[in-house]
Amino acid sequence: MPRLPRREGCARLRKAQGLSRPPRFPLGLDRLGGARAGAATSETLRPQRPVHQAAQDAEHRAAGRARPQGLGLDSAAVRARMVARLRADGLRCEPVLQALERVERHRFVDTALATQAYEDTSLPIGHGQTISKPSVVGRMLALLFEGAHARTHGDLGRALEIGTGCGYQAALLLLLARSVVSVERLKALHDKAREHLAAQRGADLRLVYGDGRLGHAPRAPFHSIVAAAGGQALPEAWLAQLAPGGRLVAPLHDAARGGQVLLVVDHRPEGLVRQWHDAVHFVPLKSGAQ
Ligand code: SAH
Repeated sequence: MPRLPRREGCARLRKAQGLSRPPRFPLGLDRLGGARAGAATSETLRPQRPVHQAAQDAEHRAAGRARPQGLGLDSAAVRARMVARLRADGLRCEPVLQALERVERHRFVDTALATQAYEDTSLPIGHGQTISKPSVVGRMLALLFEGAHARTHGDLGRALEIGTGCGYQAALLLLLARSVVSVERLKALHDKAREHLAAQRGADLRLVYGDGRLGHAPRAPFHSIVAAAGGQALPEAWLAQLAPGGRLVAPLHDAARGGQVLLVVDHRPEGLVRQWHDAVHFVPLKSGAQ
């Protein structure tokens, strides 16, 4: 099967942009601490102001580091170690690595699990669902960054996530995309994610409660589509809502391999082009909302 080079996407992206350093995030980064600060009042939050100035970026970084950490762990240092391990293991997409370093994963899981939040492991988030391990989240986001839109524009554009869960990946997407729609079929998790992401008040984030197999037509088309649950077949709506130049990354059951595999679909001028990648293990993509 054809495979994309694993480590070259972001390097190609930087080269295309004439950058010697990784591109900066398109969006503000200062809002990812303080999750659980209160309930969001609206599903659609205000557009987030792009941050392109190094000074602002550095200031946000400093703010993140200075924030009281609680839980008896210096989470910035622990996250930095997690990211160093991911880099050593071959994840080379700098924007994704930086996002993983910024988002406080321990705030998205139960307090009792917080000390495990920076291990490379999936964790239960309630209701029989799990938050994927950081290496898998990083791999999927890095694959999105190798799509044509991301290579040209330096960000994930309009992003759609299916399976909001606790909201962790949505928080990462907010740092990497211009706008994010995330759909969750379990009301309890949708509500939990809204709480976790309440601090993202300036972000162009829409959390939708519903069946993600339908995508989200009102905001389509999307430049980046990522699914956190795997089905037997790719929903037609996702393909229909993929913008030209866009890329979709989703786990899908592959009968030949007897398990789930990451599928990448590019919307190219010649049509939809599919590529199969790593074997993975995601929770099932289910129908309907409850
Ligand atoms: N990205 C999430 C991972 C959540 S696990 C995070 O960072 O926490 C996958 C999620 O997909 C579960 O919450 C599950 O309820 C949800 N899911 C499964 N089928 C779905 C569907 N058809 N539409 C929307 N969400 C779905």
